[in-house]
Amino acid sequence: MNMLLVACGDTAVLIDAGVMFPEPELFGVDLVIPDLSALDGYRGRIKALVLTHGHEDHIGAIAHVIDRVDGPIYGSEFTLALVEPKLDEHRIEHEGRLIAVQPRQRVTVGPITIEFLRVTHSMPDCLAVALHTPAGVIVHTGDFKIDQTPLDSQPCDLHRLAELGSAGVLALFSDSTNADRRGFTGSERDVVEGFEEIFSSANGKIVVTTFSSSIYRLQVLVDLAEQFDRKVAFVGRGMNQNSEIALRLGHLTIPAGLQIRDSEVSDHPAQDVVCICTGSQGEALAALPRIAIDDHRHVRLLPGDVVAFSARSIPGNEKAIGRTMNHVARRGADVVTDTDRRIHVSGHGSAEELKLMISLVKPRVFVPIHGEYRQLARHGRMARTVCPDAEVLMIQDGDVLRFQGGAAGVVDRIAAGRILIDGTRTGEIGDEVLRDRRHVAADGLVVAIVAINAQSGVLEQAPSIITRGLAADVRHEQMLKDAPNILARAIESAPREELSDPGLLKERIRIEMQRLFRKRAGRRPLVLPVVMEV
Ligand SMILES: [Zn+2]
Ligand SMILES: [Zn+2]
Repeated sequence: MNMLLVACGDTAVLIDAGVMFPEPELFGVDLVIPDLSALDGYRGRIKALVLTHGHEDHIGAIAHVIDRVDGPIYGSEFTLALVEPKLDEHRIEHEGRLIAVQPRQRVTVGPITIEFLRVTHSMPDCLAVALHTPAGVIVHTGDFKIDQTPLDSQPCDLHRLAELGSAGVLALFSDSTNADRRGFTGSERDVVEGFEEIFSSANGKIVVTTFSSSIYRLQVLVDLAEQFDRKVAFVGRGMNQNSEIALRLGHLTIPAGLQIRDSEVSDHPAQDVVCICTGSQGEALAALPRIAIDDHRHVRLLPGDVVAFSARSIPGNEKAIGRTMNHVARRGADVVTDTDRRIHVSGHGSAEELKLMISLVKPRVFVPIHGEYRQLARHGRMARTVCPDAEVLMIQDGDVLRFQGGAAGVVDRIAAGRILIDGTRTGEIGDEVLRDRRHVAADGLVVAIVAINAQSGVLEQAPSIITRGLAADVRHEQMLKDAPNILARAIESAPREELSDPGLLKERIRIEMQRLFRKRAGRRPLVLPVVMEV
């Protein structure tokens, strides 16, 4: 949920507007965005929103934030191309407001001149910003690593960072994500060898799952596919959307005839195909987890196929990822992770890169951002050794920092909680309980109880459906009578592995019941699936 407000006189500038994805406990919540109420105090003064790069934790909240900004949204061309569909999805008018900027370009907003600098990360077209203010220069790194051999030959602008440093920088806000890793993170190019080994030894299909925004990773795979005479299919909505954007803007190059549709995968011998899929976090509805339980419309796993996980596991997702891997193994396919081969490299700089950034920029005040507190603390200690004269300010979400007359310090705290968003436009809500209550108040509650034999996957008895808060209506009586049978049929036709996975089974029950109530009664009740394993 990255978001930084920089205010100077009557002008304020926002840097980034990110989301985080809900923990599994936040049942039914689709997104978590920062509490924006503190921005109300700046109404009319926020003259620009600056986006460092296109990752969800930096742009995901844009549709909720844009109304509070009285001016343009600046970002690189690629970042803005990822933003546009988000605004369109929410039907937000943005005509003329998205302004693409180039590295080294400057724009002036009131007393603040914003300078954009190229940095390297796990996706193309990422920017750091230097804010030239009357109080001094503030450098915000955005997310970065120092990739000395970037795949697109667009290096991190170390020269300009050093120039700023020698001219004098007031404060550096720097990415701390990998502050607890030693050494250097490594280049996006470093995965080529690991994948080469997979390509030269695989006898079946090669299926790779990664983040759909990891365009460099896609390019590595496309290049190897060409070299090893395989066709490439992108599988999953995000993968198709992002690869199209990257192709259009020239960040991804695919030789003519190499790409096929996912519906064409089965037309080719397995050893002639690479599938690049969404679902690296085991998300129940994404491509790979569906493929892994034989429930994808077009792609099937066969013995001899290789499935490579080319992404980190976001904390909290380990169980879902592990389940997906088990399902893949049951299909007879080979699971490869980055502990087997170097097929993933982080986008965030490790200790030595972070130190280099600090010594180049040489700030008077150092503020570690973007990371867990332990990583911020580590980064802060690092800064003290690199720049003993710098003042290190440890801040937390919501802290207000004031730079005045050479002094810097935390002077206030604002509300900086989180807001849970139900993507189906229920709107913003204070917390989980309130969300559920509203949902139940508006649409009622359906509890679907299913008792299933954990061994055989057979229903032990007919599902029972309990409703609360649904207005009695003769037209609905028949639907409620039919519901247990409809649900039983849906469960019986589910793939075997889904039945032994309570998470997936609950999701199916939820979808099935939502569909029934929507179609037959025009209602959207809160569906609470209860699975009893007998
Ligand atoms: Zn990022
Ligand atoms: Zn980030």
